Amino acid sequence: MTERPLRVVVIGAGMAGILAGIKLREAGIEDFVIYEKADRVGGTWRENTYPGLTCDTPSHHYTYTFERNPDWSSYLPPGPEIQAYFEGTCHKYGIDTFIRFNAEIGSAEFRDGRWQLQLKDGQRDSADVVIAATGVLHHPSTPAIEGIENFKGTLFHSSRWDHSVPLAGKRIGVIGTGSTGVQIVSALAGTAALIEHYVRTPQWIMPVDNTPYSAEQRRAFREDPAALALAMNTEEYLANVNSYTQVITRENLEAAEFWKATCLQNLEASVTDPELRERLRPDHEPLCKRLIFSPDYYRAIQHPQAALVTAGIERIEADGIRTADGELHKLDIIVLATGFKSDQFMRPMQITGTNGVTLEGLWAERPKAYLAVSMPDFPNFFMLNGPNGPVGNFPLIDIAEHQWHYIAQLLDKLRSGECTEICATAEALASFEERRIAAAKTTVWFVGGCKSWYLDAHGIPSSWPWDYDRFVAEMRQPQWRDFAGVGAAHAEVVG
Ligand code: NAP
Repeated sequence: MTERPLRVVVIGAGMAGILAGIKLREAGIEDFVIYEKADRVGGTWRENTYPGLTCDTPSHHYTYTFERNPDWSSYLPPGPEIQAYFEGTCHKYGIDTFIRFNAEIGSAEFRDGRWQLQLKDGQRDSADVVIAATGVLHHPSTPAIEGIENFKGTLFHSSRWDHSVPLAGKRIGVIGTGSTGVQIVSALAGTAALIEHYVRTPQWIMPVDNTPYSAEQRRAFREDPAALALAMNTEEYLANVNSYTQVITRENLEAAEFWKATCLQNLEASVTDPELRERLRPDHEPLCKRLIFSPDYYRAIQHPQAALVTAGIERIEADGIRTADGELHKLDIIVLATGFKSDQFMRPMQITGTNGVTLEGLWAERPKAYLAVSMPDFPNFFMLNGPNGPVGNFPLIDIAEHQWHYIAQLLDKLRSGECTEICATAEALASFEERRIAAAKTTVWFVGGCKSWYLDAHGIPSSWPWDYDRFVAEMRQPQWRDFAGVGAAHAEVVG
């Protein structure tokens, strides 16, 4: 059988887009282009440059499985190192030459068996297959705080850090206590005249040892695969993240007790002032929000030049933040560590599939995709880290590799000529959504007594609601009965 040559467009040159490029080349597909709206690769690691930026996943597990990095400086690697890793890997695998930078896709429409793409700069392209690798948390969420536009000082979102603004001697307010806010406060306490942390919902904080790797350790990782394997301790790592996921799915109450007790012990042992300790004590179930791993937040918030503000924010005024107790907190800089709109994905791109079906139409209620990868009426359009994809606190890099393994099998159907078009059926998506939503309502995200970015506009958790093993099993091989295919060798359903 002659192989059908495929032209592929990948959207986004972050971690997932680079992965797609590497895997396409590995499969012998060289006719592809990666469109990237920015001027560099790296996605979230390019956009986030705030002080203290680190990954909250052990460094040796935060790599592609086929490109380990023995040179991480510490257990939780700092952002610039991760950015350098992606740039280096992209170069090493010869992906740079496939990327078109400063090239933003405005729309994509499936016409006459091909995707027709329109770039924002007016150029056009067409492809047999589109891979959307556009990321999850990248549209900043700016809170509608009264008077925000009246602030005379400098105000920016954490993912748009203005490095031209000096911090020394300044009074800085950080709003938000997700991983981002916690990392910023930890990094800046003591370097600014004052750092005030505005905390609406105290978080559970897990202690973590982030001692830098020594030069000898890194040499050993480089020279001896066994030393790296020992440091990765994959079995223990998997047991850990699996136990985390089982707390989310509420299958393992013992594990829930372990995480809670460890965080509580961290709070009790680290914060000396009983009044401050109470103000830092969370009132929801652990893991209801994404757990924070921090080696130094409690130390930072007790620094003489740091202050915790738990009185609600009334409004922002020209000189600072007015809290609900009437106090005006005078500030020079306000940082919005207020998270991201987690329901946007590849929007605002306009995407139109067959039968005039649009992405906005399909996603009118909420973003959805069969197994996070494929959508009915959007043939040959596949997603990495699409809706409902993230699994617990497993790094998205691992999730994307499993998803690629699945997508590669769909590409094989197209290459072999078994079908010319392939996507999940409407029935498969509906059934998946029914099961996913039912499971989501039993997770700690739903019943744990908190709000978080995991919840969609209807209050339903939007991440993968089962455990990691189930995700891995689902990604192993497509259930072909859930796919519709079009093509000479096919009737309607891929067999
Ligand atoms: P986030 O977890 O969504 O946290 C947003 C914070 O902003 C919350 O504390 C929220 O308070 C607060 N907030 C929002 N609006 C507010 C308002 N009007 N007034 C007061 N507070 C307000 O955002 P994030 O910290 O940027 O993290 C986003 C995701 O990225 C998380 O999953 C995080 O773990 C992940 N992340 C990962 C890494 C990594 O190392 N891999 C690094 C950074 C971030 P409430 O809780 O009260 O709503």
